Amino acid sequence: MEQNERIRCLIIGSGPAGYTAAIYASRANLSPVLYEGMQPGGQLTTTSEVENFPGYPEGISGMDMMEDLKKQAARFGADIRRGIATAADFSTHPYRITIEGEKVVEADTVIISTGASAKYLGLPDEAKYAGLGVSACATCDGFFYRKKIVAVVGGGDTACEEAEYLSHLASKVYLIVRKNYLRASNIMQKRVFDNPNIEILFETQTEGLFGENGVEGAHLVKGKGTDHEERYDLPIDGFFLAIGHKPNTDIFKGSIELDENGYIVTRPYTTETNVPGVFAAGDVADPRYRQAITAAASGCKAAIDAERYLVNNNL
Ligand code: NDP
Repeated sequence: MEQNERIRCLIIGSGPAGYTAAIYASRANLSPVLYEGMQPGGQLTTTSEVENFPGYPEGISGMDMMEDLKKQAARFGADIRRGIATAADFSTHPYRITIEGEKVVEADTVIISTGASAKYLGLPDEAKYAGLGVSACATCDGFFYRKKIVAVVGGGDTACEEAEYLSHLASKVYLIVRKNYLRASNIMQKRVFDNPNIEILFETQTEGLFGENGVEGAHLVKGKGTDHEERYDLPIDGFFLAIGHKPNTDIFKGSIELDENGYIVTRPYTTETNVPGVFAAGDVADPRYRQAITAAASGCKAAIDAERYLVNNNL
């Protein structure tokens, strides 16, 4: 019978957290194996330009930055593989991770850096204008909309925060809210209501986007299904989704502690999960900051935590 492969440090996911963990783990001689997952390079590969990652004074494309991180991890010997983890069994050590529903690898330590995915409305136009006016990250892309008109979709804390952030750059921000109230915390609501640069469009839904070479406007409907239903076009240059994120933790449900929104719970100041030897880094454990630099930092911490676990357990 074929023996399962035994890995000292298995990293799942290839965003800034995964690659940074791979850089540190390979330099610490942990012989890490990294499976790239569903979206090699992670969410940043869908961002046009990264201008807030320290060390790139001229900015860098998300794609190039992830390629550089991958090369840096490979340079120190990280074994980077294509493949998606489809099941995880943490009930006995070494832990057993299934790749593509077939191959099973055994791991002494696991670093979960599977990230989170921004939710989209599901309109075909969101894909059509991806990188051409549609974004799910105001902090990443807001700078490109200086003195322009933008819309943010959503009524939660993220939407209010993004609208507020964009209001200091754009000439006008519309907040498109499907209900007739905001779900955000009182303090965020007050900030948005008091901001003269933000106009809230309540009871409004987006049916599509239009524009020649990029977004030039949105097709909106107000009071859909009511007797005051009204369709109109709103001229905008940027369309920002802020309707929530979903951490990519489906395969870990039931085997590791998750919070009520599905994010992995880590012990304060560490990347330790409730399973010894399993660590979480990046957006999969971070509903709050969600930045490339914070993900990279936690990837570094996870590799250091994994090394200490191996040493302490003579593995
Ligand atoms: P939320 O789930 O809180 O809010 C999502 C918003 O998007 C809601 O207004 C929702 O509308 C709307 N929405 C969802 N789907 C659609 C859709 N298909 N079409 C139109 N609108 C839609 O997500 P957030 O990302 O805002 O927040 C997640 C968590 O993180 C919350 O607990 C929040 O408090 C927290 N957070 C805290 C921050 C802070 O403390 N500084 C900053 C950011 C987030 P509806 O209300 O109708 O369902």
